[in-house]
Amino acid sequence: MYNISGLKGRKIAYFSMEIGLKNEMPTYSGGLGILAGDTIRASADLGLPLIAVTLLNRKGYFMQKLDSEGRQTEHHQDWAPADYMELLPHEVTVQIQNKDVKVKAWLYEHKSMTEEKVPVLFLDTDLEGNSPDNRQITYSLYGGDRKYRLKQEMILGIGGVRMLNCLGCSISKYHMNEGHSSLLAIELLRQNNMNAEKVKEHCVFTTHTPIKSGHDVFLHDIVLDLMSDYVNFETLKKYGGEHDLNMTLLGLNLSNYINGVAKRHREISQKMFPGYKFNSITNGVHSYTWVTPHFRQLYDKYLPGWANEPELLVRVRSIPDNEIWDAHKAAKKELIDFVNSKCDTKMDYNTLTIGFARRVTEYKRPTFIFSDLSRLRKVNEAGKIQLIFAGKAHPRDTMGKGFIEKIHQYAKELKGEIEIAYLENYDIDIAMKMVSGVDIWLNNPQKPLEASGTSGMKAAHNGVVNFSVLDGWWIEGCVEGITGYAIGPKPEDEKTPEQIRMMELDDLYNKLEYIMIPKYYCRKDEWINLMNNSIEMIAYYFNSHRMMHRYVTEAYL
Ligand SMILES: *Cc1c(COP(=O)(O)O)cnc(C)c1O
Repeated sequence: MYNISGLKGRKIAYFSMEIGLKNEMPTYSGGLGILAGDTIRASADLGLPLIAVTLLNRKGYFMQKLDSEGRQTEHHQDWAPADYMELLPHEVTVQIQNKDVKVKAWLYEHKSMTEEKVPVLFLDTDLEGNSPDNRQITYSLYGGDRKYRLKQEMILGIGGVRMLNCLGCSISKYHMNEGHSSLLAIELLRQNNMNAEKVKEHCVFTTHTPIKSGHDVFLHDIVLDLMSDYVNFETLKKYGGEHDLNMTLLGLNLSNYINGVAKRHREISQKMFPGYKFNSITNGVHSYTWVTPHFRQLYDKYLPGWANEPELLVRVRSIPDNEIWDAHKAAKKELIDFVNSKCDTKMDYNTLTIGFARRVTEYKRPTFIFSDLSRLRKVNEAGKIQLIFAGKAHPRDTMGKGFIEKIHQYAKELKGEIEIAYLENYDIDIAMKMVSGVDIWLNNPQKPLEASGTSGMKAAHNGVVNFSVLDGWWIEGCVEGITGYAIGPKPEDEKTPEQIRMMELDDLYNKLEYIMIPKYYCRKDEWINLMNNSIEMIAYYFNSHRMMHRYVTEAYL
């Protein structure tokens, strides 16, 4: 039984629509949720007085099944919250469509190796007394229609603040991650006699994407239908926009600290929302979580204390090269065995292996490497390559689903030449295997749409070499030929989209053929040098310990 008094000292409330903490708890969809999980892990390690708030997502995001043609179908991921957390007796209500909806919270405690805990509240409306519709509000992550989404956001923002009050927390900073939780600021307005200046002192807003559809906007009809008895419409218009309710505007208008998640993303956000002052705190990943056990052993032996002080990874050169290589080989064997057991492939331990895994959607360009098959074949003649893919497409993203089918078609077309695997149901466990088991981590989003990206940071923690378009975090992480390789021109180079695409394709094929393949197959010492540099110059910095130090000193205090 949890001691509720432990919650009272919490000062920072971290709100996120999705949080990824455990593979068995399917309460996340992608980068945003994994980042939230890493934030919680780092906060626990550092002993920060943080409490996180999210929705239960009882039916999860979805489980992905793929048929032999690569056609995706989606299945419920029912899970048992009671196996991991405890339902608190406290209850609050939120008025939706003139009805009281009851909200309870499940308490999950994340424990760090330093014995510190961070509580996470998973809000749940599946309670007796709520109508069948309202019981389902906390079922599916990013499912349902616009009304469903707004109901979820009312529970998260309004219900979340009320639950924290009910538990006796006195929160000094509310951190909204994306606009999904922005209604919390309206609830705070109500609690502070509509004094916006006072509310702003307590609010931090982080935007995580420059993509339009990533910013929630609700038609006023829907807002009036669901929220008319909750808040004065003029107030909503004043802070959330004249024509629609824009959740990003709401967050921006009611926060004193606003940030993007990489330096470049700050600039892009500043252009998207002129008139607001954006800061930047570049994302990081939780080092211990994202280092394969094969490397953890090495770091423990040569860099004791690294897990709670990832800066120590800067001294990776105290580890002998042959031990780095052996750890990588062990991680790679694990991945290759896994792939061959799941897919109809004969992947080979000694072949240069390229990994690509992320949410499958247009701007990430998952089929980019297949743009010119004759050049790809020429690369493969210079030195054999094999490719491993994974990723889910949102159920309504027909284009995204089409990419998965296309990759399956290319795999058939290149059979006998280049082995290509597509792993089903990308999740935390598969991500761990992939970011540690491949040789090259490929990322080729369309600029400037990748706010940060984090999977490449995970790869670097395992000595995997990054090969990426200069966007998001990689603009800060890339030292050409030292920490990895860039695909395409620098962000400041003024080029047309078609010129950029041609330069990117040239780099993609040429650097593989003329630089990376010769190093990997003929100059192993140089390759291992790249691996060392990834750990020394990327992992030591792009971790969530550094990120949380920044949030504390710049945003929270
Ligand atoms: C890290 C991670 C992501 C985010 O990857 P990006 O390359 O930043 O898009 C998404 N899903 C899972 C399961 C992850 O582990």
